[in-house]
Amino acid sequence: MDPTIALLKELIAIDSVNPSLVPGARGESDVARRVALECISAGLSVDVTEIAPGRPNVVAVLEGRAPGPTLMFCGHLDTVGVAGMSNPFQPVERDGRLYGRGAQDMKAGVAAMIGAARQLADAGGLERGRLIVASVVDEEHASIGAEALAARWRADAAVVTEPTDLDVAVAHKGFQWIEIETRGRAAHGSRPREGRDAILRMGRVLGHLESLDRRLQAQPPHPLLGTPSLHASVVVGGQEASSYPERCRLQIERRTLPGEAADAGARDVRAILERLRGEDSEFEGDARLTFGRDAYEIDPSHPLPEMLAHAAASAGRAPRRVGMSFWSDAAILSAAGIPSVLFGPGGAGLHSTEEYVRIEEVGACREALVALARRFTGTYATRR
Ligand SMILES: [Zn+2]
Repeated sequence: MDPTIALLKELIAIDSVNPSLVPGARGESDVARRVALECISAGLSVDVTEIAPGRPNVVAVLEGRAPGPTLMFCGHLDTVGVAGMSNPFQPVERDGRLYGRGAQDMKAGVAAMIGAARQLADAGGLERGRLIVASVVDEEHASIGAEALAARWRADAAVVTEPTDLDVAVAHKGFQWIEIETRGRAAHGSRPREGRDAILRMGRVLGHLESLDRRLQAQPPHPLLGTPSLHASVVVGGQEASSYPERCRLQIERRTLPGEAADAGARDVRAILERLRGEDSEFEGDARLTFGRDAYEIDPSHPLPEMLAHAAASAGRAPRRVGMSFWSDAAILSAAGIPSVLFGPGGAGLHSTEEYVRIEEVGACREALVALARRFTGTYATRR
């Protein structure tokens, strides 16, 4: 069997559900140990650093024979939960697909990048420069792994091997979570003069949010990412059937485009609340940003996408240049000065109960990464 696919099967069989998403879950330590062993046996030098208790990043380095540019491959070790899956950690091969939790998101990408490093090492290593192969924790929650990686390691460019169907993703959206609270006054349900209804007040907010979303989605679209959008996520309010509700809380999510301010969503919501106060002096409500991550787009003049497209062509693929709707660690790397793209094998069902990766694309991904590492470290002119 192809050693990369054998490794991928082993990685799927190791539970690495993110414990910040699913309390009590196993975390990344077992899979990190397997990844570290694989990198050591491939002849790389390996650094294992615990980012949180039981949650280590594994950073492996293939040093070239002469100084030169540094290319990084980066993938995450954690997966989302497995509720509703019958055999999540038992890899099953069928019709050219490999099923199991994390098959596509993103143990396939991790196996491909490690397989690429092994292939380069076996073929005598790199002429110059260095290759960093980083396996990080916690991408599915708060990306503490990528943040620690970006704080400590430098590279001239990076490929995050998230699933892209082997297209070259040069941009992705960001997101902002905003919590909105409206306040009323609790009172007996029979006393309309005393009660003030916080939920109906939130209804006014919701009406404005719906038209805001329509306006956002009517904007001229970004060529790869479409338009910004928002949706309501969670709403909570009221005490019991016979009372005026005192409070209503709504959580919304705003998806953003590159270049939008980190507080763009909260600012729009505050403008809505301001307007409602102008219409009704009794209206009470406020909004705050609880978490957000920026959208990302690589500098169009950076040679990495073109080099990767060439490398993929040498592996028999014809990748398109695309944008991804989901956020990724590429935004953290690029904010730390490491221009990044996403490139990984395709499949389906990420975060759902039936997840698979197309086996043939795992090997093609590895071949493209090998070709890219040679070309990048051999030709990239470091700008310093
Ligand atoms: Zn992922």
